Amino acid sequence: MLLKGASLAAFDPPLVERADLRIEGGRIVERRPALAPADGEEVHDLSGHLILPGLVNAHTHLYSALARGMPGPASPPRSFVEVLERVWWRLDRALDEEAVRVSALVGGTEAALSGTTLLLDHHSSPTFIRGSLLAVRGALEEVGLRSVLCYEVTDRNGEGGRREGLEENVAFQVAHQSDLTRGMVGAHASFTLSEEAMAGLADAVQRTGSSLHIHVAEDRADVEACRARYGEGVADRLHRHGLLIARTLLAHCVHLDAGEVESAHARGAWIAHNPRSNQNNAVGYAPTAAIRRGALGTDGIDQDLLAEARAAFLHMREAGRADAAEAVLGLLAGGHRLASALFGLPFGKLDAGGPADLVILQYDPPTALHTGNLAGHLLFGVDRSHVRSVLVAGRWVVRDRRLLGVEAEALWARARTVASAVWERMDALA
Ligand SMILES: [Zn+2]
Repeated sequence: MLLKGASLAAFDPPLVERADLRIEGGRIVERRPALAPADGEEVHDLSGHLILPGLVNAHTHLYSALARGMPGPASPPRSFVEVLERVWWRLDRALDEEAVRVSALVGGTEAALSGTTLLLDHHSSPTFIRGSLLAVRGALEEVGLRSVLCYEVTDRNGEGGRREGLEENVAFQVAHQSDLTRGMVGAHASFTLSEEAMAGLADAVQRTGSSLHIHVAEDRADVEACRARYGEGVADRLHRHGLLIARTLLAHCVHLDAGEVESAHARGAWIAHNPRSNQNNAVGYAPTAAIRRGALGTDGIDQDLLAEARAAFLHMREAGRADAAEAVLGLLAGGHRLASALFGLPFGKLDAGGPADLVILQYDPPTALHTGNLAGHLLFGVDRSHVRSVLVAGRWVVRDRRLLGVEAEALWARARTVASAVWERMDALA
């Protein structure tokens, strides 16, 4: 197919340019200012449109998609750990196979409609562990998205739960990766992981040749527990177990200092920055100025990465950063680089040879748009309401604001029924 007349943007370095794109076999095969249609070629006139490389959500939890509007806990949590105990650890235990599948379908459709084409999900469903990643994969591939999946290993559900979680990470990577879906090894956080669990994670990473996706120093409690039990910082503990390696993904890192961030980077690790979640949980402000290899994640707040980018920008501005706009564009580009490292494909550049994962925005602004002010348009103008169409691997996922893989109205109706049942089961677990 041929996409004609749109402005194309890239984040690293920022670039806006008018050019046509030819797409074949899931890839961009040609990019030039004026391409002539070939015989029988499908041509799309996109004047007045802006095309972005599909956005990457570097840390999310699709299993929280049915939490919107759910009743709060009977007694209000007084700390971050109590938020986990009274809200999220009750929710994940209430998820059965159907709820896992429907959450992933709902979260996946919201991601697609918001211009996200690839997401790194961190999944937990302690009463349905074996096969859970395959259920998530099935839902996301039905929507048409790319993803990197993992199961959250922890000791909070006993030794059996820990073992099954480890096995699920390995089994999924051995048997169920595909062109659209890859696996990592997931873990909750240092403070719910015993030394045996850490050894199991190191073994799973080695056996699969993959890397760890874990929450790190999200709240001060994680750091304090590690110091009290092991006399070291969280990143040092991961390193002691051989888990800080290339492509390791550390979510949050709010309470790492600049030196710890630097040494994690030096060992190859990536950091997912989740500003809206950090604000919502009042856990503190991440050391963003120290992050060199980072990407943005929504942490399940929703699946809207453009909203996350704007929040990241405003929070950096409030913290006094003069280079906030460049830093946020750098984080968006970081998502593409992380995805490239995990998939072995050149995401983020709308050039010949790149995967045809792109977002077409109906965005014809009242002011000039060019390379020098792309950040200003992304942070003050563009939002998900502009997303008109989305392509992943050259296939339409959203076309003219309609999903192609799932029937949204029917899905929403089913989701409401499933969500009510989940909320009832949570009540019984209180
Ligand atoms: Zn998280």
